[in-house]
Amino acid sequence: MKVIDIINQSDKTVFSFELLPPLKGNDAGSIYRTIDSLIDLDPKYINITTHRDEMIYREMPDGSIKKQVVRKRPGTVAIASAIQHKYGIPVVPHILCGGFTKSETEHVLIDLNFMGIENVLALRGDGLKTDTVFRPDQNGHGNADELVKQIVDLGQGKYLDPDLKNTTPLDFCIGVAGYPEKHFEAPNFETDLAYLKQKVDAGAEYIVTQMFFDNQKYFAFVDHCREVGINVPIIPGIKAISTLTQMTVLPKIFSIDLPQDLVTELRKCRSNADAKVVGTEWAIQQARELVAHNVPSLHLYTMGMSDNTRKIVESVL
Ligand code: FAD
Repeated sequence: MKVIDIINQSDKTVFSFELLPPLKGNDAGSIYRTIDSLIDLDPKYINITTHRDEMIYREMPDGSIKKQVVRKRPGTVAIASAIQHKYGIPVVPHILCGGFTKSETEHVLIDLNFMGIENVLALRGDGLKTDTVFRPDQNGHGNADELVKQIVDLGQGKYLDPDLKNTTPLDFCIGVAGYPEKHFEAPNFETDLAYLKQKVDAGAEYIVTQMFFDNQKYFAFVDHCREVGINVPIIPGIKAISTLTQMTVLPKIFSIDLPQDLVTELRKCRSNADAKVVGTEWAIQQARELVAHNVPSLHLYTMGMSDNTRKIVESVL
């Protein structure tokens, strides 16, 4: 089932959670354990992240340093398909511009269609850590709106090879990312919003937000979107802080602010266990207010952690 249909057909807020594919060298056991511990709460769909190749510098036995390409978490398509078939819950694999050619993207979408997957989240991805700016693959997309267009084209049977005739359309429900606190590269909020509208006008059917810790930022973002004519559902992304270091790491990685009240409570914590209690309680309060405002869905960034995710969902069911 498509995410947009799930949302439109539900008269209350549904919930979904985001999982990472297992690290290379591990089997799927940990991801299944996370799902097993949340399945009775009736998640309506599950997002699976995608991770591009990374450049690393590895010290060789002779002491020299070699630049190497590694993909730490391969297998998004396979694990997404395995989950959808094992649990009968729709999955939403993330599709990236960065690190992929248009042709590779087409092949991924063909594979997803063969496996009965009807949803994707279309994202640009970040630049390589070794680059200062995002660089698309030579034959890849520079921004998510171009990726959305490619997926929409496939939905009309337009493949990259113009000689293909009588093709089967590949019909996907497309979600895209939105940033209540602005994407870190955007020169200002208005420009970022104009590009977000471009993604929606290209064919995105809903938006999932970056994590935020102040609901007022989400409500203001929704208002601004509506003012510029973005009328699709906007799904709030919620992350429960679970360690003390996240107080400094999350703002840096995701270009977001933590409210002073939350920081004050976290500063009183003596251990990660204390921080997890504070972070979970904060996320519960956020979730309660969002559900009271009848948001379409709660998107929970689990990062593989199910106990706090469970507490948040139980608090609003
Ligand atoms: P875009 O929409 O392309 O925007 C990127 C920047 O370019 C913005 O500053 C925007 O204002 C600007 N821009 C947009 N369109 C244009 C245009 N046509 N011309 C010029 N400028 C433009 N990353 C991963 O690597 N894997 C994941 O699985 C993943 N999942 C995510 C899930 C969610 C819900 C969210 C919110 C983010 C996720 N990310 C993931 C992170 C995401 O890839 C990064 O935030 C990335 O830097 C931007 O992606 P985007 O799709 O928003 O890009």
